[in-house]
Amino acid sequence: MSIVTRFAPSPTGYLHLGHAFSALFAWHRARDASGRFLLRLEDIDPTRCRPEFAAAILEDLAWLGLDWDGEVRVQSQHFAEYRATLDGLAARGLLYPCFCSRADIRQSAAAPHTPDGTPRYPGTCRGLSQDQRDTHISAGEPYALRLHMDRALAALGDAATLTFEAAGEGAIRCHPQQFGDVVLARKDAPASYHLCVTHDDALQGVTLVTRGEDLRQATHLHRLLQVLMGWPAPRYAFHPLLTDASGRRLAKRDHAATLRELRAQGRSPADVRALASSPRTSD
Ligand SMILES: [Zn+2]
Repeated sequence: MSIVTRFAPSPTGYLHLGHAFSALFAWHRARDASGRFLLRLEDIDPTRCRPEFAAAILEDLAWLGLDWDGEVRVQSQHFAEYRATLDGLAARGLLYPCFCSRADIRQSAAAPHTPDGTPRYPGTCRGLSQDQRDTHISAGEPYALRLHMDRALAALGDAATLTFEAAGEGAIRCHPQQFGDVVLARKDAPASYHLCVTHDDALQGVTLVTRGEDLRQATHLHRLLQVLMGWPAPRYAFHPLLTDASGRRLAKRDHAATLRELRAQGRSPADVRALASSPRTSD
């Protein structure tokens, strides 16, 4: 079967070397096997994503010499599809509305954190009656939609057999319960990263999901969503995260060099590809 990979950045800033490394990793996995390489813009967050960054991503990747197959999928143009997926889960009783604020959740318990870095949800709104939900909703209170994790696991039947296949590692047992009742539709966006990424990987026929080690734990949840929705299981390949000279992970907040800056300094695409393919990395 032909390999299909994708690079799926969020247009919240300019691409830096860490992105280039990640994009090249996915691109090589596809191209070296005569497979397809797709580009997707994960722009569901209206407060952080900007069109000029989206345009810059396409331009920077093309400058770097990366080509992609087919049209770029832009998630913000497909909210109706994510809505339909949410409706399907809701009809099976697997979602519930949550009216809590972030402060409510922080204060509610010394809850362990999820792999997303947020406190695990204590389930405050899980037991609300339909009347109580209707009262909140008709009062115009914003709400998120959360996955009812216990029911989701029960819906799997034999959850103990849930695994994902990682390159060079074999089958890895999944523990999605570490996410608790995870948000699948945010208060401020009609979907969530976890929902959209699994939806789109299935829709686009991605067979090999390449991602940084920082998203390894999310994969446990993604397998659960895939099984719940009847979507196929892609294989996974995890890559280390690029670090700077002091060993810290490259990130926008650290003012990591953007491809634009490197380009302005006179670096060629070949220079940048070399920088991004023989990086200092760490797990
Ligand atoms: Zn709540």
